[in-house]
Amino acid sequence: MKDYTIHPSLKKKMPVVDYGKGVYLYDKEGKRYLDGCSGAMTASIGHAVPEVIQAMKEQAEKVCFAYRFQFTSEPAQKLSAAIAEMAPGSLNWSFYSNSGSEATELAFKMARKYWLSRGEDTKYWIISRQTSYHGITLGALSMSGNIRRRMRYEPILHKFPMLQPPYCAHCVFKKTYPECDVYCARQLEDIILQLTPKYVSAFIFEPMIGASGAAIYPPPEYNKIIREICDKYDVLMIADEVITGFGRTGRNFGVEHWGVEPDIICFGKGVSGGYVPLSGITVSDKVYNTLKEGLGTFAAGHTLSGNPLATAVGYSVVKYIKDNNLVEASRVKGEFLLAEFKKLKEKHPLMGEVRGKGLMLGIDFINPKTGTFFDAKAGVTEKVVNYSFANGLIVYASKGAINGALGDAILVTPPLVINEEEMKELVGILDKVIGEVEKELL
Ligand code: PMP
Repeated sequence: MKDYTIHPSLKKKMPVVDYGKGVYLYDKEGKRYLDGCSGAMTASIGHAVPEVIQAMKEQAEKVCFAYRFQFTSEPAQKLSAAIAEMAPGSLNWSFYSNSGSEATELAFKMARKYWLSRGEDTKYWIISRQTSYHGITLGALSMSGNIRRRMRYEPILHKFPMLQPPYCAHCVFKKTYPECDVYCARQLEDIILQLTPKYVSAFIFEPMIGASGAAIYPPPEYNKIIREICDKYDVLMIADEVITGFGRTGRNFGVEHWGVEPDIICFGKGVSGGYVPLSGITVSDKVYNTLKEGLGTFAAGHTLSGNPLATAVGYSVVKYIKDNNLVEASRVKGEFLLAEFKKLKEKHPLMGEVRGKGLMLGIDFINPKTGTFFDAKAGVTEKVVNYSFANGLIVYASKGAINGALGDAILVTPPLVINEEEMKELVGILDKVIGEVEKELL
């Protein structure tokens, strides 16, 4: 069939997906792929789960769309209650949209409306981090530090101030933890003071870095220091949990590893497991009540925001995660897989730091002769990703911008339902592929 679809690469022929089952995808030619990154950290409960299909069918037969300015719906209410139960502390109030990018833009707008509600109309700056990705729409991309994704749009993006990432293995400040006193977190105070606090609205961060630095996470004190600085200067703390939410890291939400409570959480991907477009924000009682008593409206969002079909599917996915204890499963399986990767590292000099929490794992690839990254032209990440794909394993390219070089790394984030045999298959293919790339490069 002639394909008139525009694909990311206009030159490469894409395999045509046929169906999915559990952790596997099958193309039209019958080739099987182990979905080692849940597509894009999304298909968290695997493919073709009967309970979700049933929920989708039942809701579709009732009503798919009702406009949020006219109605709420039972599915939205049930999903919001389930999220309030899962989210830390007083994060109880949810608003929905369709993509992760829209979720981070919503957070940005929610923060702005919070300050307007308090009569602080000068607070607008969002501070983010150099190595971050918050989405592809212009506001979300403006908040993102990912140079590769920004570069083609740079002239029309806003230049939000940014911190360096908490990446001890390749510290930008050439400091060593713990003697560094976690300067990468304390830098937030310097930046707020440079901007003057009365202009700063919020700080946005990924609890564990995803698309621009495979599963990089900060030292234990980092998030507490950030929280203290935010409180000191009246700055909202926004956790972008589009990847890390709903069990991906072995906790309900990634921030729980650091025991802090942000003011706003952005979620996407795992909330619907990829079954429908669904994302949103959850905000604290403080933010919600201030808005309610202040502006009294939150007229942000999109036509399809919070529609009954999407929220019914989201609720069935969140229920499935809970009923099958998948958050704990993610923690336990992640430990197993990380230990396997550490064994692989003993054998493969191309492998740099391996790290992660739960089933959000990252592998750096370095030049063993220098201990730093290869030149981007060597295309190490591309080789690992492409050879894996050819061998029936899907992994996610996650190149960050560290010290001006593009760091080579992949994310391994399989569906939380993966079993031990499937994890061993994943490790076996990676072992073979990394060996092939080493033969070419070393
Ligand atoms: N935030 C984070 C942390 C992400 O990883 C992504 C997507 N990879 C987004 C936001 C944007 O999500 P979407 O692609 O659904 O717009």
